[in-house]
Amino acid sequence: MARTFCIANQKGGVGKTTTTVNLAAALAKVGQRVLMIDLDPQGNATMGSGVDKRELRQSVYDVLLESASVAQVRVVSATCGYHVLGANRDLSGAEVELVDQPRREQRLKEALAPVQDEYDFVLIDCPPSLSLLTLNGLCCAHGVIVPMQCEYFALEGLTDLVNTIRQVRANLNADLQVIGLLRIMFDPRITLQQQVSEQLKGHFGDKVFDTVIPRNVRLAEAPSYGLPGVVFDPAAKGSQAFVAFAREMVGRMGSM
Ligand code: ADP
Ligand code: MG
Repeated sequence: MARTFCIANQKGGVGKTTTTVNLAAALAKVGQRVLMIDLDPQGNATMGSGVDKRELRQSVYDVLLESASVAQVRVVSATCGYHVLGANRDLSGAEVELVDQPRREQRLKEALAPVQDEYDFVLIDCPPSLSLLTLNGLCCAHGVIVPMQCEYFALEGLTDLVNTIRQVRANLNADLQVIGLLRIMFDPRITLQQQVSEQLKGHFGDKVFDTVIPRNVRLAEAPSYGLPGVVFDPAAKGSQAFVAFAREMVGRMGSM
């Protein structure tokens, strides 16, 4: 059965999409079967996986509205080595359309059930909000990966997310846990980043992943080529860090 993870943080621009597509590509590289789900109407993870969001016939929107199955909507990203359940602007309407529907938080979970055995990992790129879309992700996940920059307000921003996860665990998904905090865009030359990094480890212990993703311009350039950095420039420091992170995730699965 697939292990499902949300990449979530209600702040924008912290590296959620970068983490999702690069972890997906890196897991594929080390032999894992991966489905990447884009739950952000911006469709950045879709585009960043070499799938044109404007050309999607159907998207995750149709899955949430139950007018199509995952098997009908997913596409293969041959260059990236994983499957994509894409998103585009249609998805921004889903929030409103689902609001008075039954089982509205459980739609994605129910839709994924038939394809569970086809994957080792399902990764879900969440929008920068704690919305119904994010709730759909959290309801079907075993765990949450939280990418964060080691900045001054980093810890403060975590409180809302941790509270939401606690509520989801109490009401909708008893299995849900924070798998870990991923330090991303890290620059060891900046003293403040080192300090926040130490604070994080003090506070969250082994919930902080060992792997650190450095700030690396190749990771930022890759999306404009419609590729994850791991595929665009495998030798880049950031790409190698994501492969190390994929191995760390596979290793942690044994102890989950
Ligand atoms: P989010 O999905 O949380 O909004 P993104 O993944 O889109 O965040 O990242 C925000 C910006 O930071 C993007 O322009 C991305 O290319 C850049 N970025 C992310 N990670 C790195 C990194 N490790 N090094 C350099 N730039 C990065
Ligand atoms: Mg994003």
